[in-house]
Amino acid sequence: MITLELADVEIDYCTDCGGIWLDAGELELLLSDREKARQLLDSFKVDKTSTENVRKCPICDKKMRKIIVGESKPTLLIDKCRRGDGLWFDRGEIQDIFNRAKLDRDNKIQKLLADMFSHGQEKQN
Ligand SMILES: [Zn+2]
Repeated sequence: MITLELADVEIDYCTDCGGIWLDAGELELLLSDREKARQLLDSFKVDKTSTENVRKCPICDKKMRKIIVGESKPTLLIDKCRRGDGLWFDRGEIQDIFNRAKLDRDNKIQKLLADMFSHGQEKQN
């Protein structure tokens, strides 16, 4: 994993899979609107029926929980450390969460993410 800076927040990016790890509190930092951030975090529900591969937390190495974000379909599932170390987003999921919650009124984060990942996507295609 490499460290990237996104809107003054240091995020961990996996160059192999395109996933992103946010330490506890970093998602809140990225969401400039505090009230919307709280609503988003309140919408997290543990999914006990998911068949997605279980991931391990990069900090404590324990199996993480699958978390359903909000109510919208298709279901967005992210991974959350049971101890609260942080959140894991598979490739594209962090863009998804910003889109769905309409958190980023001026699209600042979306643009940064697009810039950050456009190079890797070009290589893939
Ligand atoms: Zn952990």
